[in-house]
Amino acid sequence: MYSFEIKEIPGKGRSMISTKAFAIGETIFEEEPFVSRQFSWNAAYGYKACDHCMRPLETVVENVRRLANNNALVVPLPEYDPTTPWLQQFTQCPNCKVRYCSEDCRMEALNKYHRIACMGAFHTDDTHPINALNEIWKKMHYPPETGTIMLIVRLMAMYKQSNNKEQFLQSLQSFQSLIVNTEQKIYHKMLGEHFEQQMEQLFVAFCRAFADEELAAFTNAEAFKALMGMIGTNSQGIATSPLAEWVKKVSDLPMPEGDKTKLDEYIDDIYNKVGEFAGEFLNTEGAGLYLLQSKINHSCVPNAHSTFPYSNDIVVLKAVAPIQVGEEICISYLDECQLERSRHSRQKILKENYIFVCQCPKCQSQATDPDETSEDEDDDMDMDDDDADMSD
Ligand SMILES: [Zn+2]
Ligand SMILES: [Zn+2]
Ligand SMILES: [Zn+2]
Repeated sequence: MYSFEIKEIPGKGRSMISTKAFAIGETIFEEEPFVSRQFSWNAAYGYKACDHCMRPLETVVENVRRLANNNALVVPLPEYDPTTPWLQQFTQCPNCKVRYCSEDCRMEALNKYHRIACMGAFHTDDTHPINALNEIWKKMHYPPETGTIMLIVRLMAMYKQSNNKEQFLQSLQSFQSLIVNTEQKIYHKMLGEHFEQQMEQLFVAFCRAFADEELAAFTNAEAFKALMGMIGTNSQGIATSPLAEWVKKVSDLPMPEGDKTKLDEYIDDIYNKVGEFAGEFLNTEGAGLYLLQSKINHSCVPNAHSTFPYSNDIVVLKAVAPIQVGEEICISYLDECQLERSRHSRQKILKENYIFVCQCPKCQSQATDPDETSEDEDDDMDMDDDDADMSD
């Protein structure tokens, strides 16, 4: 039983409408992803994670030592390491040795896709067509990552292993929100200026990896493009971190003022050290497709926010403003910094990445603002200023 309904609103399309009043901080729903996957470079750089749910599989000490490239780094209060419970249940696929946080995750992976996806001894063989595809993707998509071709690889295994292929395809189609003649813009954003060549190269590698009668519906250029576009517009970023979880836990501990100050200094010091070496790449990162969450529209003044409180890929949608019965539930597709930008800048990002013109209350109230980009505009956003706006 959900406290909302998904409705077609004229002029707006599919919308999630609340059927209950929510207070700030209240959970609206929780959802497991349809599919999720750690980013390719993130995995290659040694951010160990459960192959199914993305839970980090290194202790907070291992985490900070790797991130700071310093094996002498010590973390106080190790008894608050959030990873202790699941590292005790840590398990592996006996054939390919991919790691899972629990037997539950291993079994769920096996039942959904891993029977097909398991590459056994070829898991680390660079010449295996799936690894070759991943390498091609990695060369086109350096960090910071926003997607991975491996999400599509997993979807293919899910399809092959599914005993209700009709239903699987229906779920997949429910993500589609692409307008055909704007597809190129999406690839441009995902793959950069050489996107046409790269798309071709990826497609060839994809067909080599899935030269399979059963997947013929996906191994044609149009279907592949549709899959890529679907990933581009629907995937939700997922980030987990043993360090951040540990900080949250120890910061809530009752302790004398003096100890608190010392702990805060220690935490600052750890962040400085990991920041020096790992920069902004502190988290286990990946992306997922969520059947419900992907149906929520954007607003520049959102009343809900997606959170990942369990250090895995389960999304928990929380109210960040009071929500009335009958009100639309909206999240922001933009990050905090992007939300602070001018109406023109926000609309530009939304149009390029998600293909719509925002009509939220904030954008409407700023409709008469001059069409200027914010001062803190990223350079890369100006690069394609001469491109035609896709709404024109
Ligand atoms: Zn797991
Ligand atoms: Zn395996
Ligand atoms: Zn807006």
